[in-house]
Amino acid sequence: MNFIGCESSYNEADIVIFGAPFDGTASYRPGARFGSGAVRNESYAIETYSPYLDKDLEDLRIYDHGDLELPFGNAEAALEIIEQYAAQVFADEKIPVMLGGEHLVTLGAVRAAAKKYPTLRIIHFDAHTDLRDDYLGEKLSHATVIRRCYDILGDARIFQFGIRSGERGEFEWAKTRTRIQKFNFDELALLAKRLTEFPVYLTVDLDVLDPSEFCGTGTPEAGGVSFTQLLDAVKTVAGTNIVGFDLVELAPNLDPSGASAALACKLLREMLLMVGGKANE
Ligand code: MN
Ligand code: MN
Repeated sequence: MNFIGCESSYNEADIVIFGAPFDGTASYRPGARFGSGAVRNESYAIETYSPYLDKDLEDLRIYDHGDLELPFGNAEAALEIIEQYAAQVFADEKIPVMLGGEHLVTLGAVRAAAKKYPTLRIIHFDAHTDLRDDYLGEKLSHATVIRRCYDILGDARIFQFGIRSGERGEFEWAKTRTRIQKFNFDELALLAKRLTEFPVYLTVDLDVLDPSEFCGTGTPEAGGVSFTQLLDAVKTVAGTNIVGFDLVELAPNLDPSGASAALACKLLREMLLMVGGKANE
C-alpha cells in the first residue's frame, strides 16, 4: 500500500517516499517502528487535495517505495541500508522523503545527503536537543542523532527549533556549534532567507508538537508548538532548496484515538505539496 495519491513509478517520480521502520534505540516507549505503516493506512482517510495550498497530490509525480527491511537489533546495519537507499534516490536527482521510525534513522539519510551535497545544512524541528555524545554508552541512539550529524557537517550548519528538553551540557556544547532556537520557530524566516544558496535537509521529530495535539510518540514533552505553527514553519523551510526531508517518532500504538497518525498524514500531504509543487511550477 502506498501513501494516498502517490502512485507514480520510480522512474517518473520527482519525490520518493520510503519507510524506515526502526525503533531499536527508543529510550522510553517503543512503537515508532509502526509509524510509517500507520501513516500509509491512515492516509486513506484524508483528501489528496489541500485547501491550504490549493494543490492536489494527484497532480504531482511521487513514488512510494514502501518500507525498507531493517534488522531491528542492529542500528549500524539499519543505517547502512537507509544510507544506500537514500544515496540511490539522490543519485537519480530525486528528493527522498523518509518516514520513521525513531529519530536515529535520520543519520542514514544525512550520511547520503552530505556525500551528494558537500555544503548541506540541516534544519531540525524537535522537542529534544538529540546532542548527547552517547546515551548509556551507545553512540547510535535517537538521543545522539543530531550529534552524529554534527560529526559529519561540523560547526554552524545545523539549526534547531522548538527545543525544550536536553541536558545542561548539551545546551552549553551547542552554543558554539549548532544554533538552538528554544521553544518555537522565531528566527526561522530569517534563517530561510540566509540559506537560499545552500542545500537543506529538513528533519521533523514530531514530538516538537504539543502532546495535546500529538500524544502518539515515545517521549512526549509538554509546551510544544501547534499543528498550525508547524505547518507555517515547514512552509517557510519549503522556500529554501530542500533536497530531502523526514518525519520521525510517530508511535501510533501510543495514541489509540488515531489522531496523531492522522495529523502526521496531513502534515506529510502538505509537505509533499509544498516541496513537490515546486518541481511542477
Ligand atoms: Mn524528540
Ligand atoms: Mn529527536
